[in-house]
Amino acid sequence: MKQEKKNDVAVLLEYAGSRRGLTFLGLALSAVSMLLSMAPYICIWLAARDLIEAAPEWTQAQNVSKYGWIAFAFAVSGIILYFAGLMCTHLAAFRTASNIRKQGVAHVMKAPLGFFDSNASGLIRGRLDAAAADTETLLAHNLADIVGTIVLFLSMLVMMFLFDWRMGAACLLAAVISVIAMFSMMGGKNAKLMAEYQAAQDRMTKAGTEYVRGIPVVKIFQQTVYSFKAFQEAIEDYSSKAEHYQADVCRVPQSVNLTFTEGAFVFLVPVALFLAPDALANGSFAGFVADFVFYAVFSAIISTALAKIMFASSGMMLASTALGRINQVMEAPTLEAPSHPQSPRSNKVEFKDVSFTYNGSESPALSHVSFTAEPGQTVALVGPSGGGKTTAASLIPRFWDATSGAVEVGGVNVAQIDPHVLMDQVAFVFQNNRLFKASILENVRASRPEATREQVMAALMAAQCKDILDKLPDGLDTQIGTEGTYLSGGEQQRIALARAILKDAPIVVLDEATAFADPENEVLIQKAFATLTKGRTVIMIAHRLSTVVGADKIIILEEGHIVEQGTHAELTASGGLYARMWTDYNKAVQWKITSEKEAE
Ligand code: ADP
Repeated sequence: MKQEKKNDVAVLLEYAGSRRGLTFLGLALSAVSMLLSMAPYICIWLAARDLIEAAPEWTQAQNVSKYGWIAFAFAVSGIILYFAGLMCTHLAAFRTASNIRKQGVAHVMKAPLGFFDSNASGLIRGRLDAAAADTETLLAHNLADIVGTIVLFLSMLVMMFLFDWRMGAACLLAAVISVIAMFSMMGGKNAKLMAEYQAAQDRMTKAGTEYVRGIPVVKIFQQTVYSFKAFQEAIEDYSSKAEHYQADVCRVPQSVNLTFTEGAFVFLVPVALFLAPDALANGSFAGFVADFVFYAVFSAIISTALAKIMFASSGMMLASTALGRINQVMEAPTLEAPSHPQSPRSNKVEFKDVSFTYNGSESPALSHVSFTAEPGQTVALVGPSGGGKTTAASLIPRFWDATSGAVEVGGVNVAQIDPHVLMDQVAFVFQNNRLFKASILENVRASRPEATREQVMAALMAAQCKDILDKLPDGLDTQIGTEGTYLSGGEQQRIALARAILKDAPIVVLDEATAFADPENEVLIQKAFATLTKGRTVIMIAHRLSTVVGADKIIILEEGHIVEQGTHAELTASGGLYARMWTDYNKAVQWKITSEKEAE
């Protein structure tokens, strides 16, 4: 096993697959192009020397135009190579970005369904897209610039000795000072401050998103931004960190950096003035002026190169955040497919001493839960909010896997059933079952792609959706979500029920959740429920006790434990939690009826 931590860029490059080599080729071309682009400066030096030697007989300097053409040829070939280099790095970068997206999505496809509850699909896509975009800039541009700048500095060192080392050193000194100033902002304890500053920025962005999501609540309750404590604190924290970072860390080094980046002359001119008398005295003034011209022109490219390093180093920082984002997606848990899948032997559902704790949670959401739903029976899960009803139901279609104990379908642990077989066996209708932005036909057919139009229609009728189809302009083919075709919560739920009915699975896991249904919808939904559950094994999360009276078995879950189980008659007779809930429920119904009567 390799223990050493791989460089972030190397890890990102692995995503380039077969095009990884193109990155290296691109970088090599960029290095050569940088060398070629230096040559014109040497030509300028040669031309200047010839001119000065010939002065004032300028026409005697015959090689000047030759040098001009050579410079031109070098410059053009430099540009062509740079272009070719960027082409290579871009091809590799595009492949990397597309592989990051593909591999991320492929990985997420294997994640348990529950993963998508806590990681909205938009968030996952956002993470992958941002990572892919950052990687693109880094691999396509920044790396080439970094290599180019390194080559530039190395060639500056060579040129320093090639012409006049003293003037070369003067140019280099300015560059060195600005690089030191730049890195002093990023290294040591400043790196920690920089990280804190970026973390504060991230927190502020997140709190901002939460705030925007909460705007409806803010408007309804007439609150101000100050009511969003977390957002306000995030802004204040960011502003104090930003101020501290700018004032105490960046002010001096950044000023030094900019001064010396733009002012390589600062040292060059005094050094030249110092050297001039000597050059005059020993008759080498022409060479001296040529050297000076060379360095004066050459120093201008130093500032461009330094600016590129600035961008490139921020690109390198992006690499680690991009990698972090990719890893968040790639580290999502995956459902292990069984190596020797077994087929369920019946439609029985059984929980055997099941415990489950959510990732990052301290207390279990379910502990030692055991119950059986015989084929064709309806089992209702009842209990206070947070009792574990949804969690228990989610374990059957493997939204999550039990932490200990076993959830069995037809006598086989769900983890040992081929996921496709399990999905064929179980239909589930949960509160957040979403409809796609597609036609009603496609939405219903999602559960059984080979179903005919007639079968879809029959399912919709069984789910009491006739009124919905009648009012939609294109009936079955109406696109949901397009202008004017938004469905109410209750209507969406009926379409979701039609989808489950079409699936015709022998086991149904459903969340009664009629919370948002209006009375008209509610009657229809109850009818649809009746069709869906007839003759099947049903595990139902019940919110209102009126719907559980007829259940074969009622399981009362409180704080993850089964506190009671039995039929309605048994439980009301035993005088426990269910009996108390039943009394309260009846009182509430009575109260509602009385107050409605009084209102009449
Ligand atoms: P119920 O459906 O009875 O209201 P749940 O099954 O939703 O109860 O919740 C049981 C417990 O698990 C609660 O304490 C809840 O806070 C916790 N819980 C539910 N979903 C998650 C989740 N995705 N991550 C962490 N904890 C969760």
